[in-house]
Amino acid sequence: MGTPADPFPAPAYLLALRQGGLRDDLMRLAARRGHPGWFDPPLCVFAELAERLGTGARRPLTAAERQVLLARLMRAARGKVFSHARRPEDYLDGVDRLMGELCAADVAPEAFVAALDVADGECWKRDDFERARDAELGALHAAYRAALDDAGRRDGRDALAHCARFIAAHPDELAANLGGRREIRMVGLQDLRGGWQALLGALVASPAIDRVVVYTAVESEFAALGPVIGQVERLAEPETIATRIFAATTPRRLPTIVPGIEAPDAAREVEEVARRVRALCDAGVPPHRIAIVARKARPHLDLVVDALARIGVPATARRRTALVEIPAVRAVLILLDGAAAGWTRHAMVELAEQPYLENSLDVQVLNTIGYRRQVQGLAAWRDAVAELRVEVSRREQGDEPERGGWERQVALPPLARVDAALVALDAFSSRAGELDGERTLAEWLDWVRGVVEEDAWGIGRLLRLLPAAGRVDVARLDLAGWRALGDLTSQWHKAVTDFGGADDRLAAGGFAARLRSMLDNDVALWSTTGHGVQVEEGPAAAYRPCDHLFIVGLESGNFPANPPCSAVLGEMDRERLIAAGLPLDPPDAWERRERELFRVLCAGAGLKVTMAWSSVDESGRDVARSSFLDEVEEAATLEVEEIPLSRVLTDGMPLCATPATAAHAHRVALIETGRASRAASPWNGAMEDPELRDWIAHEFGERKLWSPTQLEHYAKCGWAYFGERLLGLRTLEEPDDSLEPSVRGSILHRALELFYDAARRERGNAPVLLREDDGPAAEAALLRELDTAIGEFEQAGTWLGAPALRAALRAELARILRKYLAFEIDWNRKLFGKLGNNPRVLQTGVVAHEVRFDDVTLNADGVHVRFRGSMDRLERGVDERFEGSEHYVAAVDYKTSTFAMPGGGDKAAWADGVVLQVPIYARVLAELYPADEVSRIEYRSLKSPSVKLALQLYEMSKQGAVQQNETDCETMTGAITAIARHVTNARAGLFPADPAPSCGCPSYCPAIDVCRVAGGPQRKEW
Ligand code: SF4
Repeated sequence: MGTPADPFPAPAYLLALRQGGLRDDLMRLAARRGHPGWFDPPLCVFAELAERLGTGARRPLTAAERQVLLARLMRAARGKVFSHARRPEDYLDGVDRLMGELCAADVAPEAFVAALDVADGECWKRDDFERARDAELGALHAAYRAALDDAGRRDGRDALAHCARFIAAHPDELAANLGGRREIRMVGLQDLRGGWQALLGALVASPAIDRVVVYTAVESEFAALGPVIGQVERLAEPETIATRIFAATTPRRLPTIVPGIEAPDAAREVEEVARRVRALCDAGVPPHRIAIVARKARPHLDLVVDALARIGVPATARRRTALVEIPAVRAVLILLDGAAAGWTRHAMVELAEQPYLENSLDVQVLNTIGYRRQVQGLAAWRDAVAELRVEVSRREQGDEPERGGWERQVALPPLARVDAALVALDAFSSRAGELDGERTLAEWLDWVRGVVEEDAWGIGRLLRLLPAAGRVDVARLDLAGWRALGDLTSQWHKAVTDFGGADDRLAAGGFAARLRSMLDNDVALWSTTGHGVQVEEGPAAAYRPCDHLFIVGLESGNFPANPPCSAVLGEMDRERLIAAGLPLDPPDAWERRERELFRVLCAGAGLKVTMAWSSVDESGRDVARSSFLDEVEEAATLEVEEIPLSRVLTDGMPLCATPATAAHAHRVALIETGRASRAASPWNGAMEDPELRDWIAHEFGERKLWSPTQLEHYAKCGWAYFGERLLGLRTLEEPDDSLEPSVRGSILHRALELFYDAARRERGNAPVLLREDDGPAAEAALLRELDTAIGEFEQAGTWLGAPALRAALRAELARILRKYLAFEIDWNRKLFGKLGNNPRVLQTGVVAHEVRFDDVTLNADGVHVRFRGSMDRLERGVDERFEGSEHYVAAVDYKTSTFAMPGGGDKAAWADGVVLQVPIYARVLAELYPADEVSRIEYRSLKSPSVKLALQLYEMSKQGAVQQNETDCETMTGAITAIARHVTNARAGLFPADPAPSCGCPSYCPAIDVCRVAGGPQRKEW
């Protein structure tokens, strides 16, 4: 308390604390003890100490200034390593870190060069590249220090070294800065890197200081320094596992039980921790006496805060978000990326969907155009939208030619929408056009300044409008990121003005890359609750007391964390420099510090420490638990609760926020259970709306003209059919330069058609059954027809891929056709043999390709269905083993590969009722040629030549008589029944998600995103 002589007393020493959290703890303690505070606070944290004691006149560089200066020096470096690197900025981080270390340790340029030049010995054999790199690093360091001297600045990470020099040179100013105090106490110093050694020496030697006291948990760090550092006091620690882990002395083991949580993943790990924290709070432990600590902020701290919020426990946390991930900052980057990409469809759609960029770009219009063809550049987009306008206008006026019914009509946006899109595009282009082309770095920075300070794109205004439901946290983060972007731009601008580089010319992509590397930082925000559970990163939690401590994320690579790697110096290089006398950090010091951090954290727990870890890392890969847990197990009993993989719900963790949500979840669960049967229901493809059912009954009634492929599509999965053919869903892919697979198939079909037509003409219109003798001539003719087919497609303007690859395309198609032809000739050879089933097949020859049928009504088990379509190939009997073989016909359907066949050609597809195309052809042939019999139907694969899913409706008996194959006729009957069933179901409005087992769900299913089939899409292993 004050006295008349000293109304505002303050401690007679300066207390420097390791980090801000400790200062908060001290302030809280002082408040609890009724201390009113100080006018001249005798407190600071380590990061403020140098400024408090004095560092001299030189101002530190900002991070932006350092990067600009170093980048300029690297580009100007003489040598072939840095200045010739394709992306010198890749090395910038490593060089910056090295320069920081050298400056902090006050290593003179000559000393660095001397250490680099230590003669190569047995252990340190350098190759030519390493010598060249070392020479450039030495020159770079000298140039950097000289540039700092010229500018009268300092690096910024050398504060302690400058402070030491200042103290030695200006004891009076030090005394004044300390306000007459002659003692300094430091709490939590355990790492003497970065100039501490020099500072402690200077303080002890200063006539302005009587006493320097260091309170630490690692006395050993100071042992080698002897009296130079003043008085070191080891902080008293009660006997806990913290005093036993990593200890060299025995016995190490205590009777303490340390709870452990082993979870299948980080989400369940933090949920279990949150549950236990909630139990502690319910038992009366004040939340602020509980701490949850992770070595690194990401990903655990966010997960912990969210889990605590869900279970109703307040948390106090400093959450970090990468600047480039903050939505408002991302909006600027997306704009630059769009320009860099040349305003592609993807870029334009991303811009259109960006909530922070006020533009009315229309995603549907952009996608309608962009998925048809590649469009790049703002002017090209304008032309494309104008063309679309003409097309839509024609369609709306009914001037467009008929495309074959409602199913094949590609949906286009209405004219009014296209008009609005054109206006929006013009408005967007008038602003975004400025991002095209090159400009100087200073001009780019002016542009960003205009975006942030003058709000040229309206982002600042939008981010100040609170997001829905009062999400103040989102607005806070955006504002912090926006401010950081503005500050960075100003600092960067000043840096290029002072240190050069303002005139570098860059396109949008180059500037975006530089901006990203400048934004390689985090924004940290405190939660609004001050007295909740302390959720902290490891370094911030060190030396802070609590009653219950949970250390989470104890996985290998997480804690102990991996040391940062450098792109410029490897571990061996570093050891070489240390051996040569440089005070750099040795590679093993990192591990030592990680152990000490873990130990200090454990020591902070007054009552209990719980360890938690998971079995997989962030990317889902298996990960081993931390080696620190083995140490804990040696010092105490680690009692592990293993959370089984099957435990999805954590006890006590609410699944939903309100009773209404729970009721909804219950209802949905019942629906999901019903859906598991895959039967059609209102939640699985059964249409309920009477109007819609009427429409379906009308459209799918007897007047509907089916194509066999459409019905097969329905049979494979009703919901996939509904999605693609009724809702018009498409799997959209960016157009590229490659050939469409369907075009490849069409060319092959056409080549075969031309070939067989010519062969028939040569044979006086007789059916063509190729034999071994036909081989060489047939191959030459087929390849000739392939060239003709390619020419036809070219002439029709079909895109056949990049012209440079035309020869390769022709070679590929020729290879397929040659192989297929050889297969067919061999297949026919076997028809005349005596082995296997082939001799039983009635011999038929090709008479036609692409046999069209426009409207044939079939009676399938009493269900009348109209079909249209065309058969790939028709054959007619040429069998000389019996009279009248010309009255037997066969239908063949070509597929490029077996994957295109129902069930991939698997016979099980018959039982699934999905092989419909060829049975329909059989029935159509019977209608078209009532005097003939259908002897055979089959699919043929061209790429891996084979005959699949064939039915021999008539065959040659062993006795030489033509007879019906009863088994295959039954299969045919089953197929007809399936046709009747599918058509009836479709007419009834039933489109269930029920993929045929033999087919599974194709990866390209257009309905996959709106499909809730029980168990998820069924993949079939082919
Ligand atoms: S993903 Fe499978 S079940 Fe769903 S619609 Fe497509 S094919 Fe049918």
